[in-house]
Amino acid sequence: MRFGTAEAAPGELATGVIELGHDNILPLVSPVMLARGALPGPRLFIQCLIHGGENVGPIAAARFIRSLDLKTFKGSIAALLVANPLGQRAHSRLTPQDGTNLNRIFPGSPSGSVGEQMVDRLLAIAGEHGGDAILDLHSGGELTITAFYVIYDDKFDGPQQRASKALAAQIGSRYQWGASEGWMDGTYLAHVSRTHGKTALIIESGGGARVREEDLANFSTALNGAARALGMIAGDPPVASDIRRGGNAVHVKCTKGGFWDCLVEPGQDMVAGQVMGRMVDLYGQVVEEIHCPTGQAWVGSIRRPWMPLYSGDQVVEVVERL
Ligand SMILES: [Zn+2]
Repeated sequence: MRFGTAEAAPGELATGVIELGHDNILPLVSPVMLARGALPGPRLFIQCLIHGGENVGPIAAARFIRSLDLKTFKGSIAALLVANPLGQRAHSRLTPQDGTNLNRIFPGSPSGSVGEQMVDRLLAIAGEHGGDAILDLHSGGELTITAFYVIYDDKFDGPQQRASKALAAQIGSRYQWGASEGWMDGTYLAHVSRTHGKTALIIESGGGARVREEDLANFSTALNGAARALGMIAGDPPVASDIRRGGNAVHVKCTKGGFWDCLVEPGQDMVAGQVMGRMVDLYGQVVEEIHCPTGQAWVGSIRRPWMPLYSGDQVVEVVERL
């Protein structure tokens, strides 16, 4: 079995690289890992770092793969560890060379900008190697801190959407968000599901330019849960309690610049009008209070506390609670 330059026999773990495009000197490549159990079984695909700087995913994925007992493992795991090498080099969610957010421009184009070409390639790789389920790992980025949530494509009611929703309930996250909004149309998740018919999830936890043990533990729970749900390792997948389902998201912005004094935590329940934080100017004065704009909701993500912001910057992502 091959993935890029990695080649694994039954019971082996292999590492290598796969080509995603070209910069002005050499091919752009991502490191890859290919873990093959001694026993036949499902194929799981893990993608990390389509947003540069979201470093929890690749660390957790490599740890998880190295923790497996391949003598008893059923099936295989292919991990593409750096889906956006240009963004990762810049510690940025975006691709600096063309300003693209790769997870908003799918399906991309083989004759487009460097970001559009990488996206076209990532989609082709998912079609070829995506196997039975795809997990797209995110962690907020340098500027944002997210709850431990899972997103599945909820725009259609096809078999892959139903399978994705079922898998979302088995990774140990309380925040199970079926997204059907317009931004989903440009995502990797939507295209691997709608174009290639894959069972697929976005799994997200953490961010804010740090990697916490709590976030690594969340991803460990999620990856082990997915492998159990697929029957690759023994045991029952985790069952989360006190579930929060998600509908539409509201991206709340500040109208005044200054320091962001955040008063809520990712995942926290919110009601309409609740104060979520304040903008504080350089003289220490509160110049704006930020309120929850919608009824029953939970906090999907926050801008990093005390970050100096421009007027119009996003401060909280509020997810409608269904
Ligand atoms: Zn991301």
